[in-house]
Amino acid sequence: MRSTMMPTPLQVSRILQHGRSVHSAAEVVTWAGPDAAPRRMSYGEVGRKSAQLAHALRDDLGITGDERVATLMWNNAEHLIAYLAVPSMGAVLHTLNLRLFPEQLAYIANHAEDRVVIVDSTLIPLLAGVLDKLSTVRHVVVVGDGDVGPLRHSGGDRVAVHRWDELLAGKPDQFDWPVLDENDAAALCYTSGTTGNPKGVAYSHRSIYLHSLQVPSAEMFSLGPHSRVLAIVPMFHAMAWGLPYAAFMVGASIVMTDRFLQAAPIAAMIEAERPTFAGAVPTIFTDLLAHLDANPADVSSIREVVIGGSACPPSLMHAFDERYGIQVIHAWGMTEMSPLGSVARAPAGLSGPEAWAYRYTQGRVPASVDARIVGPMGESLPADGKAVGEVEVRGPWITNEYLGEGGPDPAKFHDGWLRTGDVGTLSADGYIVLSDRAKDVIKSGGEWISSVELENALMGHPAVLEACVVGVPDDKWGERPLATVVVRDGAAVTVDELRRFLEDRTAHWQVPERWAFIEQVPKTSVGKFDKKRLRAGYAGGELEVVDTRE
Ligand code: ADP
Repeated sequence: MRSTMMPTPLQVSRILQHGRSVHSAAEVVTWAGPDAAPRRMSYGEVGRKSAQLAHALRDDLGITGDERVATLMWNNAEHLIAYLAVPSMGAVLHTLNLRLFPEQLAYIANHAEDRVVIVDSTLIPLLAGVLDKLSTVRHVVVVGDGDVGPLRHSGGDRVAVHRWDELLAGKPDQFDWPVLDENDAAALCYTSGTTGNPKGVAYSHRSIYLHSLQVPSAEMFSLGPHSRVLAIVPMFHAMAWGLPYAAFMVGASIVMTDRFLQAAPIAAMIEAERPTFAGAVPTIFTDLLAHLDANPADVSSIREVVIGGSACPPSLMHAFDERYGIQVIHAWGMTEMSPLGSVARAPAGLSGPEAWAYRYTQGRVPASVDARIVGPMGESLPADGKAVGEVEVRGPWITNEYLGEGGPDPAKFHDGWLRTGDVGTLSADGYIVLSDRAKDVIKSGGEWISSVELENALMGHPAVLEACVVGVPDDKWGERPLATVVVRDGAAVTVDELRRFLEDRTAHWQVPERWAFIEQVPKTSVGKFDKKRLRAGYAGGELEVVDTRE
């Protein structure tokens, strides 16, 4: 029997039209720095401007069909407008990661065949530095004031440069959004490419719509019209965890950081704009915690922060909970997964240490993320919370291949499942516990050491701000852990003390022999510990290593 239901396609334009009308009073606030008032725009205005942008792209810039419109932007109102307008008109939004190396930026813009780049004026120098290499780009749209000379110079005759305000001025504020195939691409995002070239993931209208329904649910981020979302996680990375679409859909207001991502302005934003929720990678919250401890600020509006992108140290969760009354919710995901994979809320009825044990995990998967653990031969292992293997996932918002590869690469896909490259366990009730990324696990003798476990233990020491552990070659064991440690301002600690601290918390044989105190941990383009650079630094003799075997 066929259903009697309407075959309405799931489209980004529905999110746009709904948010614009039903939640027209919700607002997007864009931070403008210490000396300027934040910019405010209602969702009604965002909707009107989205229609104007679509007219400008189609009528003035000639964008048709599924041509790619890229953004090189911070988190701000105009980026939200591009998020909504570009897919809704049938074109494909490509969020360029502004922290990539210029060669990588050029690689992905050419690979995606971007036609237009919308750029924040503060990023003109970055774009001007590569524009001559972006061979498919015909138009640049500049948001904000600033000298566009360098863009004209670099783009030459091939590229027309426009200003956002002039382009949108006088355009109709309604657009006849087309009916699309829900499986067509709506947005493109490239993985940050820690190894090899970045790989493209093309989200569909359907996958974005379904993901946007799940993100605000009570089991995930728990957002609604009464929420104010501080979106710290960048819109150029993994679609800002789906927050822009989800917030627009349910009428949650958004506070956007623009380029002010340091702890001091974030604390100021929280005081001034009273968000109820925030999302970012652990390093941002580590900095924020140290800042708040030294410079008290009223952060009482925040009920929950979601931390994900890399493992959240339990010590960070406890510190926010105990010192600021803020619940840290741990979450896991990846670009290939739209990116939401799992969220760590404790099962009903638990409290105290029992609940904490669940909150430390990477979280529980929702219905649309089917997860399993596989062994070295690709065999499925039991979901018993004990068997350790690679996590594989499948579902309607998980990619089935990388863009332009002509099919699933067996190194990353396996019988219709995505191989996440993450190693861990899955419990019968759907909680994932990751021990490490497969490439970061330290293989010492016949045993595996989790770099994350050592890091989490070390970051529990009061003198330690950050700790990053990597495997380094060892004559006797093949590989052994090297612990690099950033000491908190004003604190002091010795290697012996840290070794003893670890001995009380981990197996004796896992305690590293090699130690280095460093100024800061190198970070990737999205603020994660850059273990590749640290390993290279060690191999190149750049670290001052204390070797306790000597
Ligand atoms: P990149 O691979 O360039 O960092 P992604 O942001 O897509 O780009 O990263 C996804 C990966 O980040 C996951 O496969 C996992 O290794 C790691 N990750 C994300 N969230 C967590 C978490 N809560 N705990 C541990 N690792 C995480």
